[in-house]
Amino acid sequence: MGVRIYTAKEVQKIYDSGMISYETHMLLRKHLKPGVSTLELDKIAKNFIESKGGKPAFLGLYGYPACLCTSVNDTVVHGLPKKSCILKEGDIISIDLGVVKDGFYSDTAWTWPIGEVSEAAKRLITVTQQCMFKGIQAAVPENRVGAIGEAVQKHAEAHGYGVVRQLVGHGVGKAMHEEPQVPNFGRRRDGIKIRPGMVLAIEPMINEGTYDVFTDDDKWTIRTKDGKLSAHFEHTVAVTVNGPMICTLPKGAEANVFELMAS
Ligand code: MG
Repeated sequence: MGVRIYTAKEVQKIYDSGMISYETHMLLRKHLKPGVSTLELDKIAKNFIESKGGKPAFLGLYGYPACLCTSVNDTVVHGLPKKSCILKEGDIISIDLGVVKDGFYSDTAWTWPIGEVSEAAKRLITVTQQCMFKGIQAAVPENRVGAIGEAVQKHAEAHGYGVVRQLVGHGVGKAMHEEPQVPNFGRRRDGIKIRPGMVLAIEPMINEGTYDVFTDDDKWTIRTKDGKLSAHFEHTVAVTVNGPMICTLPKGAEANVFELMAS
């Protein structure tokens, strides 16, 4: 199956789904304190998403047993929520979640500090979010998908960070994972042309050190090989003739994001 092109009406449905995803993150954020377990966060997310008429899209996807991916410190992605995983002061956590509503999917991730974190951790979080926005800005008609990866890679490597190769962004909309793949590295001449109506999950995973990762014994959790920190941000983005439209951030909220992260 090729790349899906979505109508304005369908993009609106993805946005509606995306607002539940966004609100779930903002709710979870309030619970991110030392002492909370990642399993508690998962329950909070499930209840909230269902109360809004959505369904947690990760639950059961490829056999995944939870609603959230909760990836702490050196975990890059796909950290399984666990009762025994208790957040502590100085940790960083990336939370990735998906929602399906009326048949339309949204996918979005944020990374947060727990209490007071190191300067190095703060810098990694900030630069990773910047990488994502640079990627989003490149998601315009006539660019190729490679322009997104090039923008992300340039910014990350300018800060001495590693860009994870093994996991990539993707098309999203009627299914969680659609074509095309959206790597966070590469060159602007790579990949297919970006067209209006494409909807892409743009999601850089940026490591403090090497880009090498490995999968834990639980077969899900992906960690950095050198044990250093990793951060992850993701938005679901619709390509329009007027530029990228973020479906997992309320319209007009983009300007407040950096303030939000700083608070
Ligand atoms: Mg994704």
